Amino acid sequence: MSETNKPQSKEQVVHLYKKAERIHPKKADGKYANIRIFMIIATQLFFYGMPWLMWDDRQAVWFDLMGRHFYIFGLVLMANDLLLLTGLMMISAFGLFWWTTIAGRLWCGYSCPQTVYTEIMLWIDHLVEGDRNKRLKLDKEPWNARKIRIKLTKYLLIFVVAAWTGITFAGWFTPIRQFVPDIFQGTAGNVALGTAFVYGLVTWLFGHIMREQVCLHMCPYARFQSAMFDHDTLIISYDAARGEPRGARKKNAKPEDKPLGDCINCMACVQVCPTGIDIRDGLQYQCIGCAACIDACNEIMDKMNYPRGLIRYTTEGVLNKDYTDTDIKKRLARPKVMIYTTALVLAAVGLFAFAFTRDTLNVDVMKDRAVMARTNKQGLLENTYRLRFTNASEHPQRVKVSVSGLKDIRLTGQPENGTLVQGGGSEMITVQVATQPEYARKGSHPIEFTFTYFPDKAPNETRELKEKASFIGE
Ligand code: SF4
Ligand code: SF4
Repeated sequence: MSETNKPQSKEQVVHLYKKAERIHPKKADGKYANIRIFMIIATQLFFYGMPWLMWDDRQAVWFDLMGRHFYIFGLVLMANDLLLLTGLMMISAFGLFWWTTIAGRLWCGYSCPQTVYTEIMLWIDHLVEGDRNKRLKLDKEPWNARKIRIKLTKYLLIFVVAAWTGITFAGWFTPIRQFVPDIFQGTAGNVALGTAFVYGLVTWLFGHIMREQVCLHMCPYARFQSAMFDHDTLIISYDAARGEPRGARKKNAKPEDKPLGDCINCMACVQVCPTGIDIRDGLQYQCIGCAACIDACNEIMDKMNYPRGLIRYTTEGVLNKDYTDTDIKKRLARPKVMIYTTALVLAAVGLFAFAFTRDTLNVDVMKDRAVMARTNKQGLLENTYRLRFTNASEHPQRVKVSVSGLKDIRLTGQPENGTLVQGGGSEMITVQVATQPEYARKGSHPIEFTFTYFPDKAPNETRELKEKASFIGE
């Protein structure tokens, strides 16, 4: 190919990796910002306050992983209550699916820990560095004494929030009233300290450094929640039919002066968005449903004397003009929602019934392999069993054992008044079961233990538990 026929190419650099720009969202004021503040205060009062609440003489909610006991007020769950815990988790997950079908990403926008801690960190940014414009200006400024002082103040506040969040999180798993003084005395356990450190670090990393990147790139819920959306799910949307063609205009411009829609292209909705998107481009998975753009746009609509709601909670059905905003509530009774609701209510009722009527005593019957069947001093054929009682309530309970299944069967070895098991504790006793040799010929014979148990302070409230075992004959 001659020189002249070669294609003329200009060198072009295409960046496959671009550093994410720091987003400095503008503070939004309005109805939805107030709801968000309320939700943050409510969820954080619960999170920071609950570990300090006492129930009798212990922490009211305490997930004691080491001791394999979960204390939730009067309810004591143990490792073998795994079914109950799994059920609770499943109900929580289905509850989230149900909620998402009805109301979209309300969880993300108002209650998700990622949103909550990002918002708290943004409050600190705003408090120390000022609103968006001041923050942008400060970031561009060269380092000087003022900038160092402001940044140090901000990082100190962020450190306090992250550290206290980590300590509180660890306090759900270790008694916090002991843990906090132990930290200052240098006697706190390594596991609890490690938990507090890791959670504090994650709070700082996710809430201050990564922020919207967690929602955009790490959160699985953001990816699959759209599968739960339907034609009638509440979404935050820009009403393009009303807003377009967008364009700037004077405040008192008459529509006929310039035939434009209601969007004045002020970009206020973009400036408040914590994920930096433009809601006018349509429904996007990056939208976390925080509604800051609704507040920002409503403020502009008020200034322009236009009706509010250019950006609003609505549904695809309304945007397609299948029905109007006033009909949204009627769509709640759609079959998909009714089926979800029924399943959820049934599961929740079943789980609560199970939790509050379940046996508060767990029993393990173990045949003592070291002691084979033998003939005792009375000439009876005897088997030995070890019985482990675990008290799944928080009060002491007394257990009395009897046995049946063979003719003239008798049981010896238990304390005269039964076995006392402390709340949340376990006890093991060894008992002998005996019968006449002719009633238990060679081989295995089914027998049944009956455990009668009652709260130590209320002997009339007896309950019974039966457990099958086998008796070895000779
Ligand atoms: S588009 Fe609106 S609702 Fe969605 S994240 Fe941005 S500000 Fe929040
Ligand atoms: S805030 Fe409202 S008016 Fe301003 S650009 Fe966004 S949609 Fe248009």
